[in-house]
Amino acid sequence: MITVNSLSGGKTSSYIAAKYPADIDVFALVCIDNHNANAKTAFKIDAKMRQMVNDKLQKYCSNMPEFLATAEDPLTIKTMFDLEQHIGREIIWVRGIGYDTLINQNSFIPNAMAGKCTTILKIEPIFWLLYLYFSLPCKMRIGYRADESDREEHFTDYYKFPIYSQKYRDEKSMFWSSKNYFQRWVQTVYRVGEFPLIEDQIFKADVNSYWKPFIDSGVIEFPPDTNCQFCHHKPIEQVKINSMRNESINMWAAVMEDMQGHTFDKDWSILEIQNVAVQQDLFTNKLGGGCKGGYCLS
Ligand code: SF4
Repeated sequence: MITVNSLSGGKTSSYIAAKYPADIDVFALVCIDNHNANAKTAFKIDAKMRQMVNDKLQKYCSNMPEFLATAEDPLTIKTMFDLEQHIGREIIWVRGIGYDTLINQNSFIPNAMAGKCTTILKIEPIFWLLYLYFSLPCKMRIGYRADESDREEHFTDYYKFPIYSQKYRDEKSMFWSSKNYFQRWVQTVYRVGEFPLIEDQIFKADVNSYWKPFIDSGVIEFPPDTNCQFCHHKPIEQVKINSMRNESINMWAAVMEDMQGHTFDKDWSILEIQNVAVQQDLFTNKLGGGCKGGYCLS
């Protein structure tokens, strides 16, 4: 079974990449197919970096649209390039459909009750990479630290995917209709979870002290908050901070909410969150998002 490190651009999963070498290191980038989303962000993606991202994605995801913008902190992109140099192994980049395509095709805004976004934007591209180019099942390292071992309970190891469509004839009709199809699905266990940081009792302080000299010397830079900046798993105080740092990403999310008439958070719209007062101590940048799939990690 091959070993796979699933990376997010946060310090913890990057620690796994540095300390626990695997056969494959993979990063799934959440894309937005609208260049306005990254118009006003703290870290600017210039033309050269956009080309570097497209070169990376081209290798295994040439069927996907050109990269224009991301829902994650754009600094994550630089982090992944820095990390690749630091570990001295190739990091494979994959992407799924754009976040806007996901919302428009399904006419819904992901939320705590229906978080389809992790599956479509993170799990699916990694599954297809492994299914088409490597082998399954695999051993997948997940960056849950010893101080967040409760997340292990929610880890899922299966994936359901369509294998073929089958035409059928409606009993009331004499004719075969091109509209009548069954979609045949298969559910398979595609990964065995490994949690080396829980086993080795690695806490957040250990991760921070490992990276400190590299950050201080400018070898690598990490975004203050990884993954989608408006994620419904994040506390609203964190989303507020993210809206200040990456204004255009959260404005894109606000437009999506307005178009669909629903909100990511169950109580607050992105525009309302932008009016929340900034929390300076307890909450600021200390609480990240957490997908149950174990992909949207900090
Ligand atoms: S970070 Fe949040 S919004 Fe983004 S894919 Fe994961 S669960 Fe969905």
